[in-house]
Amino acid sequence: MKLSTQLLIDGQFATGDGQAEPILNPATGELIASVPEASFEQVNRAVNGAQRAFAQWSRTTPAQRSTLLLRLADAIERHAEEFAALESLNCGKPYLAVLNDELPAVVDCFRFFAGAARCLQGPLAGEYIEGHTSMIRRDPIGVVGSIAPWNYPLMMAAWKMAPVLAAGNTVVLKPSEQTPLTALRLAELASELFPRGVINIVCGRGESVGAPLVEHPLVRMVSLTGDIATGQKILQSAARTMKRTHLELGGKAPVIIFDDADLEAVVAGIRTFGFYNAGQDCTAACRIYAQGKIYDKFVAAMTDAVASIKVGGPREEGVEMGPLISDRQRNRVASFVERAQSSGHVEVTAGGKIRPGNGFFFEPTLIAHARQEDEIVRREVFGPVVSVTRFSDAEQVVQWANDSDYGLASSVWTRDLGLASKVASHLQYGCTWINTHFMLTSEMPHGGMKMSGYGKDLSLYALEDYTVPRHIMVKL
Ligand code: NAD
Repeated sequence: MKLSTQLLIDGQFATGDGQAEPILNPATGELIASVPEASFEQVNRAVNGAQRAFAQWSRTTPAQRSTLLLRLADAIERHAEEFAALESLNCGKPYLAVLNDELPAVVDCFRFFAGAARCLQGPLAGEYIEGHTSMIRRDPIGVVGSIAPWNYPLMMAAWKMAPVLAAGNTVVLKPSEQTPLTALRLAELASELFPRGVINIVCGRGESVGAPLVEHPLVRMVSLTGDIATGQKILQSAARTMKRTHLELGGKAPVIIFDDADLEAVVAGIRTFGFYNAGQDCTAACRIYAQGKIYDKFVAAMTDAVASIKVGGPREEGVEMGPLISDRQRNRVASFVERAQSSGHVEVTAGGKIRPGNGFFFEPTLIAHARQEDEIVRREVFGPVVSVTRFSDAEQVVQWANDSDYGLASSVWTRDLGLASKVASHLQYGCTWINTHFMLTSEMPHGGMKMSGYGKDLSLYALEDYTVPRHIMVKL
């Protein structure tokens, strides 16, 4: 497998001049590669290159941009197995899950925005003042600095690059310092298609590479998928140069299960949607509220289901869940579980422990009898840990579900669609699924409310986020 470790700066591949960042295989703990991070000067060159490229790229037609995005989608599809191998190596994800779930979604994201670029709509031009014609344009913003997390490195690169480029902006993308490998390979494919400077990829840590990117005066907009604390730092820094921001921060998805729900479907759903990607997902179905009559049956069936999840390395036969991204993340998850247990009233009915041996594995874990005020119910764990809390009626559970700083994703499970629709309409979350969870599609927006941030990924809303409406008035 070819490992690309060079950054893409203004059309040139270059080794980072900064500190070397070790890239580990989370399934074994071994070193895969070392990627030197970008120096301050290299970040500056990338932004200046993107700014120069913007002059031409912003004047291309939607059809021209669409053609290149479609070619990039085709190139990724042709290299799908290579990307899946790299991603599963760098993140410890089951190889087949990356190949069959993530790669098609990545390719579809580029294809969707290739089409969407040609379909932006807006108000009609007209004479709103006598003798004057007004029209609205939606124009690109300029250089966008995009900062991505480690949980879905290639997919986040796609979500960040595709709408930005479709709208006529240029981009400087910084993948997570822990997972740069697929973005660097993507840089190689993209550099063969796109004009110099339109796409730049710089690697490195938040403080040394992310911060200078956010502070750069020629960067007109910053998009982040990451932690709330990182979002807050970026907002403070962006305020100095009045940049637009697009923030996708964490989540703590409430999952509301009413007594009449289809128990088998719920259990199968949570087994998948609570533990996919080892729970390192901002929409993970991690905060269960089960109604009084179904509660005991649900906890019993869910305990068996969680215990049956097959944990292992990316290429193991039948593997369903891989390791966590790092030892640090695993220790963080373990400490959440320890603190929950020390409360005395919860019961760990499945898992709860670090798996001995190599790699950063943690057992899929179910925590029953959690209470609304418990840390395990309130804070994002970002690991394979699901809590269950008993509730009595719809009003109480809506109040508990909304009693959270987060507002990204939620779900309601019941056979009564009237009840489900009513509850969904009262939830303060960017998305509510009914009788499912976690399902995303390129046509529909993904993004949060409250401290989960704002700005939408995917859909025409993302394209709008990366453009600015402008008014042109002609005196007749
Ligand atoms: P993180 O905030 O630590 O890092 C995200 C990115 O920000 C990384 O590239 C990092 O290098 C960079 N960064 C860190 N400090 C920075 C700074 N001061 N200036 C500029 N850049 C900086 O998050 P993470 O640990 O990589 O990812 C996990 C978090 O991301 C979780 O909280 C998760 O919920 C969230 N997340 C949210 C979504 C969503 O759609 N809302 C999706 C995936 C992950």
